[in-house]
Amino acid sequence: MRTIKYGIGDTFTRSVIARRIFILFMLAAFLPTLILAALSLSQVRDVLVSQSHDRLAHTNRTYAMTVYGRLLLAHEHMRQIAFGKKQDLLPSSSILQYSQQVFSSMGLAWPDGQTRILYGKTISLPAISPGEHAHLLKGKSILLTTRTSENLSDVLLVQLADITRSDSPLLIARLDALWLWGGPDSFPYMTGFCVLSEHNQLLFCNQPDDPPEVTTSLSQIASSAEHTSRTTTEDRIISHWQLFLKPKFHHEHWTVFAFQPGLMALAPIGHFSEIFTAVAVLTLLLAALLSISQIRRTMGPLEKLIQGTRHIANEDFGYKVEIASQDEFGQLADSFNDMTDRLGRHYNDFQTLSRIDQAILTRRDTHIVIGIVLERIGQINEAGLTGMTILEETGTGEAKICVCSNNGAGSIEMTRITLSEEDIRLVSASPAGFWLDNQKHPASWLTTPANEKVQEKNLSVFTLPVFYHTKLYALMWLTFPDQSVLVGEMLAHLQQLGDRTGVALSAAARDEQLIYQARHDDLTGLPNRFFFKEKLLQEISFSQRQDCSFALLFIDLDRFKVINDSFGHSAGDALLVEAARRLQQCVRAEDLVARLGGDEFAIILTDTRNPDHIMPVAAQIIRTLSDPFLAGETYSHIGASIGITIYPDDGKNSEDLLKKADTAMYRAKEEGRNRSVFFEESMNSAAVARTTLERELRQALSDKAFLLHYQPKMDVRTGRVCGAEALLRWHHPARGFVSPAVFIPVAEEIDLIKSIGLNVIRDACNQITVWQQAGVNLPRLAVNVSGSQFQDSTLVQEVERIIALSGASARSLELEVTESLFMDRNSGTTATLEQFRSAGMLVAIDDFGTGYSSMSYLKNLPVDVLKIDKSFVDECASDKESGLIVRAIITLAHTLGKTVVAEGVETADQLEFLRQAECDIIQGYLFSRPLPPAQFLEFVREHGVYQ
Ligand code: C2E
Ligand code: MG
Ligand code: MG
Repeated sequence: MRTIKYGIGDTFTRSVIARRIFILFMLAAFLPTLILAALSLSQVRDVLVSQSHDRLAHTNRTYAMTVYGRLLLAHEHMRQIAFGKKQDLLPSSSILQYSQQVFSSMGLAWPDGQTRILYGKTISLPAISPGEHAHLLKGKSILLTTRTSENLSDVLLVQLADITRSDSPLLIARLDALWLWGGPDSFPYMTGFCVLSEHNQLLFCNQPDDPPEVTTSLSQIASSAEHTSRTTTEDRIISHWQLFLKPKFHHEHWTVFAFQPGLMALAPIGHFSEIFTAVAVLTLLLAALLSISQIRRTMGPLEKLIQGTRHIANEDFGYKVEIASQDEFGQLADSFNDMTDRLGRHYNDFQTLSRIDQAILTRRDTHIVIGIVLERIGQINEAGLTGMTILEETGTGEAKICVCSNNGAGSIEMTRITLSEEDIRLVSASPAGFWLDNQKHPASWLTTPANEKVQEKNLSVFTLPVFYHTKLYALMWLTFPDQSVLVGEMLAHLQQLGDRTGVALSAAARDEQLIYQARHDDLTGLPNRFFFKEKLLQEISFSQRQDCSFALLFIDLDRFKVINDSFGHSAGDALLVEAARRLQQCVRAEDLVARLGGDEFAIILTDTRNPDHIMPVAAQIIRTLSDPFLAGETYSHIGASIGITIYPDDGKNSEDLLKKADTAMYRAKEEGRNRSVFFEESMNSAAVARTTLERELRQALSDKAFLLHYQPKMDVRTGRVCGAEALLRWHHPARGFVSPAVFIPVAEEIDLIKSIGLNVIRDACNQITVWQQAGVNLPRLAVNVSGSQFQDSTLVQEVERIIALSGASARSLELEVTESLFMDRNSGTTATLEQFRSAGMLVAIDDFGTGYSSMSYLKNLPVDVLKIDKSFVDECASDKESGLIVRAIITLAHTLGKTVVAEGVETADQLEFLRQAECDIIQGYLFSRPLPPAQFLEFVREHGVYQ
């Protein structure tokens, strides 16, 4: 388990929520405290002020009553003194002593203005109003105040010395201020007392230092206020009390003020503030502590959850958020961990699928896909055995079992088995997968150890067939302790894996097929030129490493073109298939036979240290290919020419070896075909010569370096010229005249024959007109036409156009074609020849007897003339059999109504034989070689023309 360490400082710097919670807590704690404190303070202040007022009012009233009491006491005392005076008694010393404490001065005043001071300072008597006098007559005192200084006044008490007499002298006493108002020690602490007269005249103040404004403000209060009240000014509280003096002393009221500094009243508040501050600080501290603790309790799990999400973001699904608390955070952590598990599983599922897709798309080896799939199944079924049985493409039930070692990362074991048809039927019947029936156990698609383990531990086996487009490709199998383990989600994923495997295997099979097709020849199934070259390169590098040699045989079928042209392509194809089969029988399994194209084959004979081992193989090939092939309905003979090169003697790279083998093969053809020839360096020059010839031929055509010579044809009976054969001559600038036997086959191969052939016909036709103009009407002029010229469908039109342009008659033209032209009855040649014939031309079979023409259909051929081949003519006079053949041909031709020409007649014996055999026309050196036009004209003029 990983614990996340975080400091509260970190939390505050990183977390907005933490800061917000903290501030909220502080506000929640502080604001109510503050409001409560303010309210309490105001309340307490009011209470304190009220209490102070009450106390002050009480003190003030007490003080006022004390002053009043003293006034009453002073009155009584004066009464006693006045009574003594009435008796004309002197006051006793004790009374006097006491009197001097109460009154600072005392005197008598008579109505006539006479005064006598009893003691103290002089007292001036103010005027007495009649009302006051009446009051005095009742035995009461009157109170008078006289201003003595700026601020203070004296208080006088006046009585009649004898109330029985209206002219009685007045006893006047000045009240001692200290006695009346009290000494400084008699006042409460910090409490001021002032007394104002009815005229707001200050009578007394125990705070003489107070500024005059105080007195002013007091006088305002006194004049406006009622009998008693309390007032609070800015910095002091004031209470006043009106002392009614009228009844007793016939004097307007006095106002007694008591005041204290406001601070004094509010002194307890100062203490309260200190307590409040302490409480506020404590509250804040508590709030801070609680908020931090709450933040820790909240942010800790939040941090862990955030950490968890970061792990998910980093694709780490193994990380677990550990929150021990049982609250919502704990539940959230549990849900989060569940979610992470599911996400992890899905993520792994998708990742595996994407890896497989990638492997499929990049066309990687199917083993990689199978490895990934097995690894994944191993992960999701950790406890069980897993494997995959892959069916081979052969369809024989052969399969290989791939087993991923348990929980191993892709280590794969393979075993080969054969699945029975019953197994395949059983599997195919449950495409969605099935549990193996115990009675069917052991299953052939499980490995033996797996089967044993299933038996031993009584495991359940689930098999999921892997299809792609209804084709079964593989079986995926897993073992479980019991069937309940395979839940729906797991099965769905297995099916996804199965689908992907199906795609991969089908793609691989398709690829294999495409690769096979790209490398093999469709017709014969042999490796093609491309694959052959690949193998040749491999063989070269192998032989180079092993320091050994190998032989390359280049095989070209002889006369295959004839068969193909004659019997059609399907016959040609069948022949090639058969030839391929025979070739494969001639070599060992380790050798390679390939078809390079057309009728060309190549063989690599591996590890041929001794060249003597090569010849027997080549001979065997020639023998086997010389055996007749069934072409169409008949057996035909072909043969093969083989060129052989040996690595490394003849070449060290594939091009060299192939080119030289090809050259050797051409030499074999030149030497008479149906043979094998080892390459020799000298052949290279021959090959070069041939390439030069090809180039020069093209040049000659454009340079018009071809010309025609004419060999006369003699009528046997008359000995006159009855026709001629136009024979092509190439006047080579260096080599002189080159034989058509040399260059015509090359012209045919390089496709120049069509142009050359048409030029020949054009020149021949023009020559007929030229001779006609010279007065010689040659009955017939023969031109040789190659078989390949007949492949051109416009041939007839072209020839007719040439004839028309030249002004010659179509009847003067004879076309010499070879026997092989008729072998393919379906080729349309017969129809073409019919067209020529109906245009008036004659058709002759040249070199008759060398081909394989069937006598049975000769009668139907659209030909007018048979030219017996020179090989028969040569020996007709000397060799009995040749003579018999010549006679038979002549008889046959005459029977079919055709003219017979014997060519290559060189001797008089031959002529004699042919005359006796009733041959119609003779052509040969005996009469003339082929001649240039001018000489031919002379010859004709000399011998005459037989029409
Ligand atoms: P071919 O049509 O059978 O022509 C007869 C060949 O025999 C000619 O050879 C001719 O010179 C030769 N010849 C005639 N009489 C005798 C004789 O008494 N003794 C010997 N030893 N030879 C004799 P040439 O002119 O060399 O032509 C060879 C072949 O070339 C021709 O055989 C023909 O197949 C082909 N050829 C010649 N000219 C043309 C042409 O214009 N077009 C085509 N397609 N082939 C041609
Ligand atoms: Mg000819
Ligand atoms: Mg001929």
